[in-house]
Amino acid sequence: MEKIQMTTPLVEMDGDEMTRILWQMIKDELILPFVDLKSEYYDLGLEHRNETNDQVTIDSAEATKKYGVAVKCATITPNAARMEEYDLKEMWKSPNGTIRAILDGTVFRAPIIVKGIEPCVRNWKKPITIARHAYGDVYKASEMKIDGPGKVELVYTKEDGSEVRELIHNFTGAGVIQGQHNLNDSIESFARSCFNYALDVKQDLWFATKDTISKKYDHTFKDIFQEIFDAEYKEKFDAAGIEYFYTLIDDAVARVMKSEGGFIWACKNYDGDVMSDMLSSAFGSLAMMTSVLVSPNGYFEYEAAHGTVQRHYYKYLAGEATSTNSVATLFAWSGALRKRGEMDGLSDLMTYADNLERACIETIESGKMTGDLARITSMPNPTTLGSLEFIQAIRETLSGYYAD
Ligand code: NAP
Ligand code: MG
Repeated sequence: MEKIQMTTPLVEMDGDEMTRILWQMIKDELILPFVDLKSEYYDLGLEHRNETNDQVTIDSAEATKKYGVAVKCATITPNAARMEEYDLKEMWKSPNGTIRAILDGTVFRAPIIVKGIEPCVRNWKKPITIARHAYGDVYKASEMKIDGPGKVELVYTKEDGSEVRELIHNFTGAGVIQGQHNLNDSIESFARSCFNYALDVKQDLWFATKDTISKKYDHTFKDIFQEIFDAEYKEKFDAAGIEYFYTLIDDAVARVMKSEGGFIWACKNYDGDVMSDMLSSAFGSLAMMTSVLVSPNGYFEYEAAHGTVQRHYYKYLAGEATSTNSVATLFAWSGALRKRGEMDGLSDLMTYADNLERACIETIESGKMTGDLARITSMPNPTTLGSLEFIQAIRETLSGYYAD
């Protein structure tokens, strides 16, 4: 077949460990045979981040601003063990954190639903999409260890030099403190992204914080959402027959468990991090979830919601068979290519992205899957495939669509 053409490069952010292996397999088996891929490649593998003093991460985010669409592989966020393993110059920050801080915006994560993989919460009939605020809070916090007695305060020095102080604690012994921040601008764009997304997919929007305890910080989130909703979205929501609903985070968690799904759940940064892992596991597997960062300026970064699957990588290095699920990484590619097609008016590219996803789902529904799914499927006698075999099975299904 003649390869599908692209006009604008996709920003390609390669990553680490097992997902880096899957990345190459997906490209070789599922993309390059079908698409004349134009991409601007950034190697966010930990070794190269270390060599470039993490400049490559910043460059890749800047390139996303230039071209509009990126696809990202999972990457290692270094900790003490990684410092030693990779002989790092510094404990580099989370690349996702760095990229999100540059692009701003909201991360939308939705489960990929296939027949035969039923959610373990029985009453969930429809997908629940998490909208995770991607800026600030604990991810941009300053922390300090307090080694003994003393007074700790928050100090705000205004431009005119005047100060506002708030006591954090009078320490009588050792302890820890943390200073978080967020920006009204970022919260406003978070709110607008959520309202727009809800209108786009015609689903109710839920939002929750802990405003009863955090009367200034979390309450500001609640107020900003409500003000923007009342001023700009109420009528549109009424017309679309959907609702905006605010409640406390603990109440939201309880209601989510009893709901039948089919709504968007807007979460502050940390809540979204934690709750999306809970939802993806309950819906099937960490590898059965899409994730896209939507910036208020219209930039899109597609990624997998899971990590680099370190345990599988060490098996792979030892020459043992692996059965790592590539669906989330594959959907990052299809999502990015579809968006590229949409922006550049390339209908063949958009159709290819749809086909790639359909081939993936059909392959699983025909009983061929990776071990994580085979363990939980309600299908009788599933076939467990290795990492590469699963991708090759998808290729066979996909090739069928293009054979004539
Ligand atoms: P992980 O990659 O999320 O994997 C944890 C476990 O979940 C795996 O051992 C595996 O369970 C299962 N799993 C996750 N993805 C899977 C897949 N695609 N197919 C099959 N099973 C899958 O977490 P980790 O291994 O603890 O973390 C490794 C690194 O990932 C860390 O350095 C962390 O910093 C990084 N990380 C990156 C991102 C990101 O870039 N988006 C997100 C989170 C974590 P079994 O072992 O039971 O098979
Ligand atoms: Mg997480």
